[in-house]
Amino acid sequence: MLLDTRAMRHLTAEDWKVLTATEMGTKNHELVPTQLIERLSRLKGGASGVHKSISALAKAGLIARMKEAKYDGYRLTYGGLDYLALHTHSQRRQVYSVGTRIGVGKESDIMIVADETGTQKVLKIHRLGRISFRTVKSNRDYLKKNQACGSWMYLSRLAAMKEYVFMQALRQEGFPVPEPLAQSRHTIVMTLIDAHPLRQISSVRDPAGLYGELIGLILRFAKHGLIHGDFNEFNILIKEERPVPETESKGKGKEGDEEEEPPLILTPIVIDFPQMVSMEHQNAEMYFDRDVHCIKYFFERRFHFVATEPGPFFKDAKKTVGKDGARRLDATAEASGFTKKMAKDLEAAIRNQAVIQESAPDSSDEDEEDGGDEEDEDEDQEEENGDGDAKVHISETLPESEEGMVKLVVSETT
Ligand code: ADP
Ligand code: MG
Repeated sequence: MLLDTRAMRHLTAEDWKVLTATEMGTKNHELVPTQLIERLSRLKGGASGVHKSISALAKAGLIARMKEAKYDGYRLTYGGLDYLALHTHSQRRQVYSVGTRIGVGKESDIMIVADETGTQKVLKIHRLGRISFRTVKSNRDYLKKNQACGSWMYLSRLAAMKEYVFMQALRQEGFPVPEPLAQSRHTIVMTLIDAHPLRQISSVRDPAGLYGELIGLILRFAKHGLIHGDFNEFNILIKEERPVPETESKGKGKEGDEEEEPPLILTPIVIDFPQMVSMEHQNAEMYFDRDVHCIKYFFERRFHFVATEPGPFFKDAKKTVGKDGARRLDATAEASGFTKKMAKDLEAAIRNQAVIQESAPDSSDEDEEDGGDEEDEDEDQEEENGDGDAKVHISETLPESEEGMVKLVVSETT
Protein backbone atom coordinates (compact mmCIF):
# COMPACT_ATOMS: atom_id res chain seq x y z
CA MET A 1 0.00 0.00 0.00
CA LEU A 2 2.20 2.71 -1.23
CA LEU A 3 1.50 6.07 -2.63
CA ASP A 4 1.96 6.84 -6.27
CA THR A 5 1.07 10.34 -7.27
CA ARG A 6 1.93 9.92 -10.89
CA ALA A 7 -1.62 9.58 -12.13
CA MET A 8 -2.55 12.74 -10.30
CA ARG A 9 -1.55 15.16 -12.98
CA HIS A 10 -3.63 13.36 -15.57
CA LEU A 11 -6.90 13.68 -13.73
CA THR A 12 -9.30 16.22 -15.15
CA ALA A 13 -11.64 18.43 -13.19
CA GLU A 14 -14.43 16.01 -14.07
CA ASP A 15 -12.44 13.06 -12.78
CA TRP A 16 -12.02 14.80 -9.45
CA LYS A 17 -15.73 15.45 -9.25
CA VAL A 18 -16.49 11.82 -9.91
CA LEU A 19 -13.92 10.69 -7.36
CA THR A 20 -15.41 13.06 -4.81
CA ALA A 21 -18.87 11.79 -5.66
CA THR A 22 -17.73 8.22 -5.05
CA GLU A 23 -16.39 9.26 -1.69
CA MET A 24 -19.67 10.93 -0.82
CA GLY A 25 -21.55 7.81 -1.81
CA THR A 26 -19.27 5.78 0.45
CA LYS A 27 -20.99 7.29 3.46
CA ASN A 28 -23.96 5.05 2.90
CA HIS A 29 -22.72 2.36 0.56
CA GLU A 30 -19.51 0.46 0.60
CA LEU A 31 -20.16 -0.28 -3.03
CA VAL A 32 -21.49 2.93 -4.47
CA PRO A 33 -24.08 2.34 -7.18
CA THR A 34 -22.96 3.77 -10.49
CA GLN A 35 -26.21 5.68 -10.77
CA LEU A 36 -25.58 7.36 -7.47
CA ILE A 37 -22.11 8.36 -8.62
CA GLU A 38 -23.70 9.87 -11.70
CA ARG A 39 -26.14 11.86 -9.63
CA LEU A 40 -23.64 13.06 -7.08
CA SER A 41 -21.09 14.07 -9.69
CA ARG A 42 -23.41 16.68 -11.23
CA LEU A 43 -21.40 16.81 -14.38
CA LYS A 44 -22.70 19.03 -17.11
CA GLY A 45 -21.93 16.42 -19.71
CA GLY A 46 -24.21 13.92 -17.99
CA ALA A 47 -23.76 10.19 -17.76
CA SER A 48 -21.32 9.76 -20.61
CA GLY A 49 -18.85 12.17 -19.03
CA VAL A 50 -19.20 10.35 -15.74
CA HIS A 51 -18.51 7.02 -17.39
CA LYS A 52 -15.42 8.35 -19.02
CA SER A 53 -14.16 9.56 -15.67
CA ILE A 54 -15.09 6.30 -14.01
CA SER A 55 -12.93 4.40 -16.48
CA ALA A 56 -10.04 6.77 -15.96
CA LEU A 57 -10.31 6.49 -12.18
CA ALA A 58 -10.64 2.73 -12.26
CA LYS A 59 -7.64 2.48 -14.55
CA ALA A 60 -5.59 4.53 -12.09
CA GLY A 61 -6.77 2.24 -9.29
CA LEU A 62 -8.57 4.99 -7.41
CA ILE A 63 -11.92 3.27 -7.53
CA ALA A 64 -12.61 -0.39 -8.09
CA ARG A 65 -15.45 -2.47 -9.32
CA MET A 66 -16.42 -5.28 -7.05
CA LYS A 67 -16.68 -8.73 -8.51
CA GLU A 68 -19.82 -10.65 -7.78
CA ALA A 69 -21.62 -7.57 -6.67
CA LYS A 70 -25.38 -7.58 -6.75
CA TYR A 71 -25.52 -4.30 -8.58
CA ASP A 72 -23.28 -2.18 -10.73
CA GLY A 73 -21.09 0.02 -8.63
CA TYR A 74 -17.66 1.08 -7.47
CA ARG A 75 -15.88 1.51 -4.21
CA LEU A 76 -13.17 3.91 -3.25
CA THR A 77 -9.74 2.31 -2.83
CA TYR A 78 -7.01 3.37 -0.45
CA GLY A 79 -5.35 4.98 -3.45
CA GLY A 80 -8.48 6.98 -4.15
CA LEU A 81 -8.68 8.16 -0.58
CA ASP A 82 -4.99 9.12 -0.67
CA TYR A 83 -5.61 11.21 -3.76
CA LEU A 84 -8.57 12.99 -2.25
CA ALA A 85 -6.58 13.82 0.85
CA LEU A 86 -3.61 15.05 -1.17
CA HIS A 87 -5.94 17.08 -3.33
CA THR A 88 -7.31 18.81 -0.26
CA HIS A 89 -3.84 19.45 1.18
CA SER A 90 -2.79 20.81 -2.14
CA GLN A 91 -5.77 23.14 -2.38
CA ARG A 92 -5.03 24.39 1.10
CA ARG A 93 -1.48 25.00 -0.08
CA GLN A 94 -0.02 22.69 2.51
CA VAL A 95 1.41 20.27 0.00
CA TYR A 96 2.76 20.92 -3.44
CA SER A 97 5.05 17.96 -4.03
CA VAL A 98 5.52 14.50 -2.65
CA GLY A 99 8.92 13.00 -2.03
CA THR A 100 10.21 9.78 -0.60
CA ARG A 101 8.77 7.59 2.04
CA ILE A 102 10.75 7.83 5.24
CA GLY A 103 8.81 5.51 7.44
CA VAL A 104 6.61 2.52 7.13
CA GLY A 105 4.78 1.55 10.21
CA LYS A 106 2.29 -1.23 10.29
CA GLU A 107 -0.38 1.37 10.61
CA SER A 108 1.01 4.21 8.56
CA ASP A 109 3.16 5.49 5.75
CA ILE A 110 5.31 8.51 6.41
CA MET A 111 6.20 10.64 3.41
CA ILE A 112 8.28 13.73 2.97
CA VAL A 113 6.29 16.40 1.18
CA ALA A 114 6.94 20.04 0.41
CA ASP A 115 4.85 23.12 -0.12
CA GLU A 116 5.28 25.65 -2.91
CA THR A 117 8.07 27.43 -1.12
CA GLY A 118 10.02 24.20 -0.87
CA THR A 119 9.53 23.85 2.87
CA GLN A 120 9.65 20.18 3.69
CA LYS A 121 6.99 18.62 5.87
CA VAL A 122 5.81 15.20 6.88
CA LEU A 123 2.66 13.57 5.58
CA LYS A 124 1.47 10.74 7.78
CA ILE A 125 -1.01 8.46 6.06
CA HIS A 126 -2.85 6.26 8.50
CA ARG A 127 -3.46 2.76 7.30
CA LEU A 128 -5.27 1.07 10.06
CA GLY A 129 -6.46 -2.35 9.25
CA ARG A 130 -4.03 -2.90 6.49
CA ILE A 131 -2.55 -6.00 7.98
CA SER A 132 -5.76 -7.10 9.47
CA PHE A 133 -7.18 -7.55 6.03
CA ARG A 134 -4.37 -9.76 4.98
CA THR A 135 -3.34 -12.86 6.72
CA VAL A 136 -4.78 -13.07 10.14
CA LYS A 137 -8.11 -14.77 10.01
CA SER A 138 -9.28 -13.69 13.42
CA ASN A 139 -8.98 -10.12 12.28
CA ARG A 140 -11.05 -10.58 9.24
CA ASP A 141 -13.64 -12.09 11.50
CA TYR A 142 -13.30 -9.21 13.88
CA LEU A 143 -13.82 -6.74 11.13
CA LYS A 144 -16.74 -8.64 9.75
CA LYS A 145 -18.38 -8.62 13.11
CA ASN A 146 -17.82 -4.94 13.34
CA GLN A 147 -18.87 -4.08 9.84
CA ALA A 148 -20.56 -0.92 10.91
CA CYS A 149 -17.46 0.49 12.51
CA GLY A 150 -14.78 -1.76 11.18
CA SER A 151 -13.88 -0.42 7.81
CA TRP A 152 -10.31 0.57 7.20
CA MET A 153 -11.34 3.93 5.90
CA TYR A 154 -13.30 4.84 8.95
CA LEU A 155 -10.66 3.57 11.36
CA SER A 156 -7.79 5.25 9.56
CA ARG A 157 -9.69 8.50 9.56
CA LEU A 158 -10.35 8.17 13.28
CA ALA A 159 -6.67 7.57 13.92
CA ALA A 160 -5.75 10.70 11.98
CA MET A 161 -8.42 12.81 13.70
CA LYS A 162 -7.38 11.70 17.14
CA GLU A 163 -3.70 12.12 16.49
CA TYR A 164 -4.20 15.59 15.05
CA VAL A 165 -6.30 16.78 17.94
CA PHE A 166 -3.84 15.52 20.52
CA MET A 167 -0.88 16.97 18.71
CA GLN A 168 -2.59 20.33 18.71
CA ALA A 169 -3.40 20.17 22.40
CA LEU A 170 0.05 18.95 23.38
CA ARG A 171 1.71 21.54 21.26
CA GLN A 172 -0.37 24.26 22.89
CA GLU A 173 0.80 23.08 26.27
CA GLY A 174 4.38 23.33 25.12
CA PHE A 175 5.12 19.63 24.81
CA PRO A 176 7.95 18.74 22.46
CA VAL A 177 5.91 17.36 19.57
CA PRO A 178 5.88 18.22 15.85
CA GLU A 179 3.59 21.05 14.88
CA PRO A 180 0.40 19.68 13.34
CA LEU A 181 -0.35 21.67 10.20
CA ALA A 182 -3.40 20.07 8.63
CA GLN A 183 -5.58 17.01 8.63
CA SER A 184 -7.60 15.58 5.81
CA ARG A 185 -9.36 12.24 5.96
CA HIS A 186 -6.81 9.62 7.04
CA THR A 187 -3.80 11.91 6.74
CA ILE A 188 -1.95 14.53 8.73
CA VAL A 189 0.59 17.10 7.63
CA MET A 190 3.09 18.12 10.30
CA THR A 191 6.48 19.72 10.58
CA LEU A 192 9.46 17.60 9.67
CA ILE A 193 11.68 16.96 12.64
CA ASP A 194 15.34 16.79 11.77
CA ALA A 195 16.18 14.02 14.16
CA HIS A 196 16.69 10.31 14.50
CA PRO A 197 14.55 7.93 16.48
CA LEU A 198 16.12 7.02 19.80
CA ARG A 199 16.25 3.54 18.38
CA GLN A 200 19.11 4.59 16.11
CA ILE A 201 21.24 6.22 18.76
CA SER A 202 24.01 3.90 19.83
CA SER A 203 25.45 5.85 22.71
CA VAL A 204 24.87 9.03 24.64
CA ARG A 205 27.18 10.97 26.88
CA ASP A 206 24.72 11.29 29.71
CA PRO A 207 22.19 8.46 29.72
CA ALA A 208 20.96 9.43 33.19
CA GLY A 209 20.11 12.91 31.97
CA LEU A 210 18.20 11.69 28.93
CA TYR A 211 16.45 9.01 30.96
CA GLY A 212 15.36 11.62 33.46
CA GLU A 213 14.03 13.80 30.71
CA LEU A 214 11.99 10.98 29.18
CA ILE A 215 10.55 9.86 32.48
CA GLY A 216 9.84 13.52 33.13
CA LEU A 217 7.79 13.60 29.94
CA ILE A 218 5.77 10.58 31.01
CA LEU A 219 5.02 12.36 34.28
CA ARG A 220 4.18 15.57 32.52
CA PHE A 221 1.73 13.78 30.26
CA ALA A 222 0.21 12.24 33.37
CA LYS A 223 -0.17 15.57 35.05
CA HIS A 224 -2.25 16.67 32.08
CA GLY A 225 -4.33 13.51 32.39
CA LEU A 226 -2.68 11.54 29.60
CA ILE A 227 -0.66 8.44 28.90
CA HIS A 228 1.13 8.24 25.58
CA GLY A 229 0.51 4.52 25.32
CA ASP A 230 3.33 3.73 22.90
CA PHE A 231 6.23 5.57 24.45
CA ASN A 232 9.16 3.69 23.03
CA GLU A 233 12.42 4.16 21.17
CA PHE A 234 10.63 4.40 17.81
CA ASN A 235 8.31 7.17 18.85
CA ILE A 236 10.89 9.37 20.50
CA LEU A 237 13.01 11.35 18.08
CA ILE A 238 16.27 12.73 19.39
CA LYS A 239 17.37 16.07 18.09
CA GLU A 240 21.08 16.66 18.35
CA GLU A 241 22.16 20.26 18.51
CA ARG A 242 25.45 21.94 19.13
CA PRO A 243 25.07 24.64 21.70
CA VAL A 244 25.51 28.05 20.12
CA PRO A 245 29.14 28.99 20.72
CA GLU A 246 29.63 31.94 23.00
CA THR A 247 30.93 35.05 21.30
CA GLU A 248 34.63 35.79 20.90
CA SER A 249 34.71 38.34 23.65
CA LYS A 250 34.81 35.69 26.31
CA GLY A 251 37.28 33.04 25.24
CA LYS A 252 40.05 35.48 24.29
CA GLY A 253 42.77 34.88 26.77
CA LYS A 254 42.47 31.14 26.87
CA GLU A 255 45.27 30.21 24.56
CA GLY A 256 46.79 26.79 24.41
CA ASP A 257 43.74 25.52 26.13
CA GLU A 258 41.86 24.82 22.88
CA GLU A 259 38.34 24.06 23.90
CA GLU A 260 36.94 20.71 23.04
CA GLU A 261 33.79 20.69 21.02
CA PRO A 262 30.96 21.32 23.42
CA PRO A 263 28.81 18.25 23.91
CA LEU A 264 25.69 17.91 21.81
CA ILE A 265 22.44 18.84 23.40
CA LEU A 266 19.91 16.07 22.98
CA THR A 267 16.28 17.05 22.83
CA PRO A 268 13.57 14.39 22.69
CA ILE A 269 10.58 15.04 20.45
CA VAL A 270 7.62 12.75 20.91
CA ILE A 271 5.49 11.49 18.00
CA ASP A 272 2.71 8.99 17.26
CA PHE A 273 -0.45 9.66 19.24
CA PRO A 274 -3.42 7.63 18.01
CA GLN A 275 -3.27 5.34 21.01
CA MET A 276 -3.10 7.97 23.75
CA VAL A 277 -5.32 7.19 26.72
CA SER A 278 -6.63 9.06 29.71
CA MET A 279 -5.22 8.58 33.19
CA GLU A 280 -8.82 7.64 34.02
CA HIS A 281 -8.88 4.78 31.56
CA GLN A 282 -9.74 1.44 33.11
CA ASN A 283 -6.36 0.04 32.12
CA ALA A 284 -4.48 3.26 32.74
CA GLU A 285 -2.07 1.69 35.20
CA MET A 286 -1.09 -0.99 32.73
CA TYR A 287 -0.47 1.57 29.97
CA PHE A 288 1.46 3.84 32.29
CA ASP A 289 3.64 1.02 33.56
CA ARG A 290 4.24 -0.19 30.06
CA ASP A 291 5.47 3.22 28.91
CA VAL A 292 7.81 3.42 31.88
CA HIS A 293 9.01 -0.10 31.35
CA CYS A 294 9.77 0.51 27.68
CA ILE A 295 12.15 3.30 28.57
CA LYS A 296 13.79 1.43 31.43
CA TYR A 297 14.24 -1.65 29.34
CA PHE A 298 15.67 0.24 26.40
CA PHE A 299 18.12 2.23 28.52
CA GLU A 300 19.33 -0.90 30.19
CA ARG A 301 19.87 -2.82 26.98
CA ARG A 302 21.25 -0.01 24.89
CA PHE A 303 23.12 2.23 27.31
CA HIS A 304 23.59 -0.17 30.24
CA PHE A 305 21.91 2.36 32.39
CA VAL A 306 19.75 1.34 35.33
CA ALA A 307 18.01 3.99 37.37
CA THR A 308 18.82 3.93 41.04
CA GLU A 309 15.27 4.64 42.04
CA PRO A 310 12.33 2.38 41.30
CA GLY A 311 9.23 3.79 39.63
CA PRO A 312 7.76 6.17 38.81
CA PHE A 313 4.52 4.59 39.92
CA PHE A 314 1.06 5.11 38.57
CA LYS A 315 -0.50 5.79 41.95
CA ASP A 316 1.85 8.72 42.54
CA ALA A 317 1.38 10.07 39.05
CA LYS A 318 -2.38 9.82 39.47
CA LYS A 319 -2.23 12.22 42.40
CA THR A 320 -0.68 14.87 40.22
CA VAL A 321 -3.38 14.91 37.53
CA GLY A 322 -4.59 18.45 37.06
CA LYS A 323 -2.36 19.78 39.83
CA ASP A 324 -0.70 23.19 39.72
CA GLY A 325 -3.26 24.32 37.21
CA ALA A 326 -2.25 21.69 34.64
CA ARG A 327 -4.90 21.70 31.93
CA ARG A 328 -6.60 18.34 31.56
CA LEU A 329 -6.01 17.17 28.02
CA ASP A 330 -7.67 13.80 28.26
CA ALA A 331 -11.04 15.21 27.33
CA THR A 332 -9.53 17.04 24.41
CA ALA A 333 -10.47 14.61 21.70
CA GLU A 334 -14.04 14.41 22.83
CA ALA A 335 -14.31 18.14 23.07
CA SER A 336 -13.40 18.38 19.42
CA GLY A 337 -16.04 16.06 18.12
CA PHE A 338 -14.27 12.78 18.62
CA THR A 339 -17.10 10.88 20.25
CA LYS A 340 -16.92 8.14 22.85
CA LYS A 341 -18.07 5.69 20.24
CA MET A 342 -15.26 6.73 17.90
CA ALA A 343 -12.77 6.38 20.73
CA LYS A 344 -14.08 2.91 21.46
CA ASP A 345 -13.94 1.77 17.86
CA LEU A 346 -10.43 3.08 17.44
CA GLU A 347 -9.26 1.54 20.66
CA ALA A 348 -10.66 -1.83 19.68
CA ALA A 349 -8.91 -1.62 16.34
CA ILE A 350 -5.60 -0.62 17.88
CA ARG A 351 -5.83 -3.34 20.49
CA ASN A 352 -6.63 -5.77 17.77
CA GLN A 353 -3.68 -4.58 15.77
CA ALA A 354 -1.40 -5.09 18.76
CA VAL A 355 -2.57 -8.68 19.02
CA ILE A 356 -1.66 -9.24 15.40
CA GLN A 357 1.73 -7.67 15.89
CA GLU A 358 2.43 -10.00 18.72
CA SER A 359 1.40 -13.02 16.76
CA ALA A 360 3.07 -11.95 13.53
CA PRO A 361 6.83 -11.92 13.05
CA ASP A 362 8.11 -8.63 14.36
CA SER A 363 9.26 -6.31 11.67
CA SER A 364 10.87 -3.57 13.60
CA ASP A 365 13.66 -5.17 15.50
CA GLU A 366 15.77 -6.72 12.86
CA ASP A 367 19.13 -5.63 14.11
CA GLU A 368 18.91 -7.16 17.49
CA GLU A 369 16.52 -9.76 18.52
CA ASP A 370 15.68 -11.46 15.32
CA GLY A 371 16.76 -12.03 11.78
CA GLY A 372 14.12 -9.70 10.47
CA ASP A 373 12.79 -10.67 7.12
CA GLU A 374 10.14 -8.10 7.32
CA GLU A 375 10.44 -6.96 3.77
CA ASP A 376 8.47 -9.90 2.54
CA GLU A 377 5.76 -9.07 4.91
CA ASP A 378 5.43 -5.65 3.58
CA GLU A 379 5.56 -6.80 0.03
CA ASP A 380 2.88 -9.45 0.15
CA GLN A 381 0.66 -6.91 1.64
CA GLU A 382 0.06 -5.42 -1.75
CA GLU A 383 -1.80 -8.36 -3.12
CA GLU A 384 -4.35 -8.83 -0.45
CA ASN A 385 -4.46 -5.44 0.96
CA GLY A 386 -7.72 -3.60 1.13
CA ASP A 387 -9.42 -6.65 -0.31
CA GLY A 388 -7.92 -6.24 -3.69
CA ASP A 389 -7.11 -2.59 -4.16
CA ALA A 390 -5.29 -1.89 -7.31
CA LYS A 391 -1.63 -1.70 -6.63
CA VAL A 392 -0.29 1.78 -6.30
CA HIS A 393 3.30 2.29 -5.58
CA ILE A 394 6.06 4.74 -5.69
CA SER A 395 9.46 3.78 -6.93
CA GLU A 396 12.62 4.73 -5.15
CA THR A 397 13.72 6.71 -8.14
CA LEU A 398 10.79 8.85 -8.90
CA PRO A 399 10.25 9.96 -12.42
CA GLU A 400 10.25 13.63 -13.23
CA SER A 401 11.67 14.38 -9.88
CA GLU A 402 13.24 17.52 -8.70
CA GLU A 403 15.58 16.56 -5.95
CA GLY A 404 13.48 13.55 -5.34
CA MET A 405 10.22 15.39 -5.24
CA VAL A 406 7.34 14.78 -7.58
CA LYS A 407 5.16 17.73 -8.34
CA LEU A 408 1.53 17.29 -7.65
CA VAL A 409 -0.26 18.85 -10.49
CA VAL A 410 -3.77 19.13 -9.36
CA SER A 411 -6.33 20.53 -11.69
CA GLU A 412 -8.20 23.61 -10.68
CA THR A 413 -11.59 22.33 -9.73
CA THR A 414 -14.47 22.62 -7.32
P1 ADP B 1 3.55 4.69 13.19
O1 ADP B 1 2.22 4.97 13.78
O2 ADP B 1 3.44 3.91 11.93
O3 ADP B 1 4.51 4.11 14.16
P2 ADP B 1 4.98 7.20 13.47
O4 ADP B 1 4.20 8.44 13.63
O5 ADP B 1 5.58 6.61 14.70
O6 ADP B 1 4.08 6.12 12.71
O7 ADP B 1 6.12 7.45 12.40
C1 ADP B 1 6.95 6.40 11.91
C2 ADP B 1 8.38 6.90 11.70
O8 ADP B 1 8.40 7.98 10.79
C3 ADP B 1 9.01 7.44 12.97
O9 ADP B 1 9.64 6.42 13.71
C4 ADP B 1 9.97 8.46 12.45
O10 ADP B 1 11.17 7.86 12.08
C5 ADP B 1 9.30 8.99 11.21
N1 ADP B 1 8.55 10.25 11.49
C6 ADP B 1 7.25 10.36 11.81
N2 ADP B 1 6.89 11.65 11.99
C7 ADP B 1 7.98 12.38 11.76
C8 ADP B 1 8.27 13.80 11.78
N3 ADP B 1 7.34 14.71 12.04
N4 ADP B 1 9.53 14.20 11.49
C9 ADP B 1 10.48 13.29 11.21
N5 ADP B 1 10.29 11.96 11.18
C10 ADP B 1 9.07 11.50 11.44
MG1 MG C 1 5.46 4.89 15.72
